[in-house]
Amino acid sequence: MQFLTILGSTGSIGVSTLDVVDRNPERFSIVALTARSRIDLLLEQCCKFRPRYAVVIETAHAERLQRQLRASGSETEVLCGIAALEKVAALPEVTTVMAAIVGIAGLRATLAAAHAGKRILLANKESLVTAGALFMSAVKTSGSVLLPIDSEHNAVFQAMPGKQSGSLKNNGVRRILLTASGGPFRTLSLAQMSLVTPEQAVAHPNWMMGRKISVDSATMMNKGLEVIEAHWLFDADPSVIEVIIHPQSVIHSMVEYCDGSVLAQLGNPDMRTPIAHALGHPSRISSGADFLDLAAIGTLQFERPDTARFPCLRLAYDALKTGAAAVIALNAANEVAVAEFLDHRIGFLDIPRLIETVVSAVPERTIATIEDVEAVDQLSRELTLSACAPRTSTITAGAGA
Ligand code: NAD
Ligand code: MG
Repeated sequence: MQFLTILGSTGSIGVSTLDVVDRNPERFSIVALTARSRIDLLLEQCCKFRPRYAVVIETAHAERLQRQLRASGSETEVLCGIAALEKVAALPEVTTVMAAIVGIAGLRATLAAAHAGKRILLANKESLVTAGALFMSAVKTSGSVLLPIDSEHNAVFQAMPGKQSGSLKNNGVRRILLTASGGPFRTLSLAQMSLVTPEQAVAHPNWMMGRKISVDSATMMNKGLEVIEAHWLFDADPSVIEVIIHPQSVIHSMVEYCDGSVLAQLGNPDMRTPIAHALGHPSRISSGADFLDLAAIGTLQFERPDTARFPCLRLAYDALKTGAAAVIALNAANEVAVAEFLDHRIGFLDIPRLIETVVSAVPERTIATIEDVEAVDQLSRELTLSACAPRTSTITAGAGA
């Protein structure tokens, strides 16, 4: 039996995780659920899965949820705030933590799970992107088991040699090939992209996801973040991590070996497959995902990414080469720019422009603690917002022209 904390249980990954748990009730027991929004859904989840704790971020939400839970006869205790997220990620009775908060907001709790030696199912790529060295060192020191949820990294994990010791090269691995759908704007020109709306950007052709990662897929920053994620997860030099566009999202990623073999993991684009893989690992458990019908799909296509139209991918590789502060700045500027875009305050093409400006303005420095990460994150957020404000009117007008 695994005892689970799900950080971000009301999000796209959180809901899919509970769906897989529900299909395998003899294997899992829920200790804690957490959410910042969709508190009504959190209430429903608490009534169904009866966790010991529910964590929210705002006091008003906590008071209301606790009243409603009591009224329905539930014994779930409601906690509030970031320290409470850290607490439920590190409770002694918890064996497994699903890290599915979006953005750097998930960093402290995910890192707490790593320090506490938990089995971590990592969806929250921004924690690894912004604090890769700290995070991997906490995992090693505590003996945590880290299982990737991101479909590409889960695929790579499945295609890697079973028993690894030493470098990728020593294990015969030549390249990691991360597949990318190309997002909803794969075939658009830059001129067409300057006109797209948030509603078009979040309508991903293959995957149903939260709004932030959907915009990241549209700009291809998602793939950029995934290159950085792969660097940390597999101890891979950026030069051996390649991105290939595969619009059908059936091959979730591949590992190429020195003998010319390429191992791929395939499946329908349904996050319940990597979630079930990681929840059950090393056993296989049912996920509820439809089985793949390759004859019905017919064709699998591949093309090279175009970094002229999707500069975020290049910016991510560049930041990874530059250093830890550049990567934190890249992530922070992206989080702020995506939120501004979703609120209709900037245009789609302003996202890479802002990121480039902010990354080049943030000085490189040593990142040794979580406070260092947060300081660079905060500075980068302020720079992004101030770079947004005066430009917004001209950019938006230009985009609409
Ligand atoms: P989402 O927006 O659907 O859900 C995010 C969850 O985090 C919600 O429960 C929300 O209440 C909570 N949350 C948001 N901000 C918070 C804050 N400041 N403090 C505490 N909790 C907060 O996001 P998602 O699509 O489920 O993505 C979650 C993570 O998984 C992201 O890092 C994303 O990149 C990664 N991921 C998602 C998918 C997918 O298919 N959705 C695929 C691969 C990786
Ligand atoms: Mg992914």
